[in-house]
Amino acid sequence: MTPYVEHLSQTFNASDELVRLDHVVKNFRSGQTFFRGRTLLVRAVDDVDMTINRGETLGLVGESGCGKTTLGKLVLRLERPNAGRIWFEGRDIAKMTGHEMKQIRRKMQVIFQDPYSSLNPRRTIKSAIMEPLTIHHIGSRADRVNRVAELMEEVGLRPEFAERYPHEFSGGQRQRIGIARALALNPSLIVADEPVSALDVSIRSQVLNLMEDLQAKYNLTYLFVSHDLSVVEHISDRVAVMYLGKIVEIGPKNVIYENTLHPYTEALLSAAPIPDPEIKRHRIILEGDVPSPINPPSGCGFHPRCWLRIPVCSEQAPELRDMGSGHSAACHVRAPAT
Ligand code: ADP
Ligand code: MG
Repeated sequence: MTPYVEHLSQTFNASDELVRLDHVVKNFRSGQTFFRGRTLLVRAVDDVDMTINRGETLGLVGESGCGKTTLGKLVLRLERPNAGRIWFEGRDIAKMTGHEMKQIRRKMQVIFQDPYSSLNPRRTIKSAIMEPLTIHHIGSRADRVNRVAELMEEVGLRPEFAERYPHEFSGGQRQRIGIARALALNPSLIVADEPVSALDVSIRSQVLNLMEDLQAKYNLTYLFVSHDLSVVEHISDRVAVMYLGKIVEIGPKNVIYENTLHPYTEALLSAAPIPDPEIKRHRIILEGDVPSPINPPSGCGFHPRCWLRIPVCSEQAPELRDMGSGHSAACHVRAPAT
């Protein structure tokens, strides 16, 4: 641990920051073996610095496999980092005891892409929504039943459906059940991992609107994970773009969409069908595979797919540089060291 990070940990108390990640690294064993049976490591999250402010929605985007889910799990402490620090409400969650962590868990909840897989098919919706209340011994049984009815109304489900089973609901309704469950303990942070990716486009905006309404009503903070920049655009205040375990660009939404710096962000934006031949060219370049995080490219992880690359890009990884107005990018060409 460098003295600088130590210093930060003692002084960090900015009240608008709910979560802060400092040089966070998460490796997994890949399952593939190298010669002599040595296992290879996957660097799923590679030196991430990031904050999530109270009451905001931070959209986290990037192609499948870039580390979004792992980053979300690290924030929730469902995974533990190999290096770096994670603070929640000014406290280092890595250092928390089981009891402290249980209290913090109440404040951070998760919404998954497919609530069906996290709902027990043999248990009613009532018991599913009630479960967090039961685990945390909140109220009497009657209080909990009332709270379930209240939560169902809150997410636009009729409370008289409480005795029904998950298969009796549509995809959109099941996501509402997932949201009700996440809300049960009055969390301050919700990590929503691809919450609308499995839903029909016609249902998506309903669920996104519900999430926005609930955010305003309960001052919720969202880490909203999606592989789709157009979904994130709708709901985010700020957007973070991830590539091979690193944040390559982060900033206020309008800046990211209008003053795009990183070529990868540009390429993701160009994936939306816009009739611009210049941008279309970039999209074709990106049809290559995402490089393997087991054996990432040297220098900037994006350089093999990048049309702007210069010699330094394959030699040295660019740092995430502050370009003003809360906008940072990691690119030797677009955000060069001064
Ligand atoms: P995303 O959510 O962006 O698709 P993930 O965070 O799920 O990405 O995965 C990032 C990388 O880490 C991928 O290469 C994935 O295969 C790997 N990975 C994720 N979880 C594990 C795990 N439990 N064991 C081994 N590798 C994992
Ligand atoms: Mg994922």
